[in-house]
Amino acid sequence: MRVFKTQVVVVGGGAAGCYAALNLHRKGIKAVIVCKGLVGKSGASLFAGNLVLSGRLLGNTEEQARNTAEFLIKYHNQFLIDQEWAKHCGAWIASVYYPELEEAGLYFRRDDDGNMVVSPGKIRSIAANVQGNSGVPFMDMRRKQIIKAGIETIEETVVTALLRNSDGSVAGVFGLQVLTGEYIVVLARATILATGYSDRLHARSTGTREMSADGIAMAWRAGASMVNLEMQWWHTNDVAYPPTWQRMQIYPNPMLGSEKSARMVNSDGEQFFDQQKDDPLAFGPYTVQLKALAKQVHAGKARYTGGYYAGFDHCAPGEVEAYTTYAKVYRQLGMDFPKSLIETAVTAHYRQGGIDVDTTTMSSSIPGLYVAGGVGGHCNGLIALVTYDGKVVADGVADNLSNLREPDLLDQQVKQERDRLETLLYGNDARAEPCAPGELKEAVRALMWEKAGVEKDARSLNEALEDFSRIRRELLPRLRANAPVRAANYDWLDAIDCVNMIDAAELVVLSSLQREESRGPFMRRDFPETDNQNWLTANLLHKAGNGYRFEKRPYNLSMFRPDFSRANNLEVPW
Ligand SMILES: Cc1cc2nc3c(=O)[nH]c(=O)nc-3n(C[C@H](O)[C@H](O)[C@H](O)COP(=O)(O)OP(=O)(O)OC[C@H]3O[C@@H](n4cnc5c(N)ncnc54)[C@H](O)[C@@H]3O)c2cc1C
Repeated sequence: MRVFKTQVVVVGGGAAGCYAALNLHRKGIKAVIVCKGLVGKSGASLFAGNLVLSGRLLGNTEEQARNTAEFLIKYHNQFLIDQEWAKHCGAWIASVYYPELEEAGLYFRRDDDGNMVVSPGKIRSIAANVQGNSGVPFMDMRRKQIIKAGIETIEETVVTALLRNSDGSVAGVFGLQVLTGEYIVVLARATILATGYSDRLHARSTGTREMSADGIAMAWRAGASMVNLEMQWWHTNDVAYPPTWQRMQIYPNPMLGSEKSARMVNSDGEQFFDQQKDDPLAFGPYTVQLKALAKQVHAGKARYTGGYYAGFDHCAPGEVEAYTTYAKVYRQLGMDFPKSLIETAVTAHYRQGGIDVDTTTMSSSIPGLYVAGGVGGHCNGLIALVTYDGKVVADGVADNLSNLREPDLLDQQVKQERDRLETLLYGNDARAEPCAPGELKEAVRALMWEKAGVEKDARSLNEALEDFSRIRRELLPRLRANAPVRAANYDWLDAIDCVNMIDAAELVVLSSLQREESRGPFMRRDFPETDNQNWLTANLLHKAGNGYRFEKRPYNLSMFRPDFSRANNLEVPW
């Protein structure tokens, strides 16, 4: 086992984790990044297709700036966001984020006259190199910045537990280097969780294999409070077949340099979503699309798993291909572009909820534990917003570092975590029939999709809880890797993931039962109305002894507020 000592350990090497580490480095604070995949090459960040312009950037009018803020609060977060935080974040994106990226050498796409190409409309966006692929050059640049700054990284290493000092504060992390099978401990005064979303809890997802909700599960086991875990965002336009293409999206937003975007058609060939007509704010209309799709599903003209289609058959090929990657999917699948429409299906995209934080410092409810990016429950993400978290958390940690204690010696906890992982590798009863990690993972995802998926009710959610109790009783004690090999054993990693997925999925189901309304992408069959009177509130989940308790916390509505008390969610325009 290798033991590292540093001032701050950052868990995760996506947009949030990298920016947190870079900002700490600028402040002269030593940070180590531990990353389940490769820094800058794992997680959701490299899938970001384009970058929203906020404030008065690049000729944005006052109205466009206001629309962007309104989009973020209403359509992107269904009002479950601190509006003062949103205001500060928007101002930072306009004044610091984009200038800093250009200065660092990120190329924003320009036309032949040298003007930056934007998507037209009420809310505008730009792309790094090409729309659909912006995350790749963006994160390549971050990786280079991390290397250039000499920030230590421990890659292909999964953090499996938070270590605690005797006073309960977080003392660092325990992890497993997947390629060598070696354990590591990183002791630090502050720990920043930047593990991204938890989308791989569902059968269909845009997330990578790393998105097994490790951050939520570890933070909960350590006693941190959660917020709005039930709020899951869904994509409606991802490729249905083959299943391995489920992250490939037929992007519904305006294209760079064109007024048009993909259209959606039901199984009878009728168009049911045209972004120009149906989406009043014209950016990231996933929830608006989801509501349109739900109506088609109720009418028997689509399923959440397919039976409806999307494409660009109303566009000229050159219009799509000038600045986007969108034709690639069709061509690679051997389809006639742009004439063919592709069968699409729903996919779990971002989890809006997550660990509860104080947004002025990004501190969690446990001393020494901080959060940045998609794993937080304060906002629904976007690459610029999670980057802002990286700045705020670095400031928060720097201000408080001298008050955080030096880590204790933690031999007992280290032994416990080693024993837990060894059991997942070798099992604790050689005679018991093993439960295969890959199969259990699929079973959890299928159960979440069926019973806690797009539409759910108290009955299906309670059934999900019963299923989890049975899994805990009958399968978890027999869970072990297929082969007792230490190095590069991804089956062992699957077993580690399974435990996190079950811990987090149960919390998601409990939180879904608690929110007795439907709000945007959160759809309860038994509570179809959006209820601003009772539920325009954070749904907080605290640990209480061996159990849990819920609490409501109102939101600051300083800029925008809904103009109704209760209404059928499917008829609410956001
Ligand atoms: C398909 C797709 C398209 C998107 N399109 C856009 C877009 O067009 N524009 C936009 O602004 N945003 C877009 N987003 C959202 C944006 O990408 C995310 O908001 C953002 O990348 C989240 O960053 P993050 O750093 O929080 O998480 P991630 O980038 O997911 O990083 C998480 C990191 O944590 C690591 N990790 C996880 N668990 C552990 C563990 N146990 N131990 C160690 N490390 C761990 C992972 O390996 C990874 O490095 C898109 C997202 C997806 C999935």
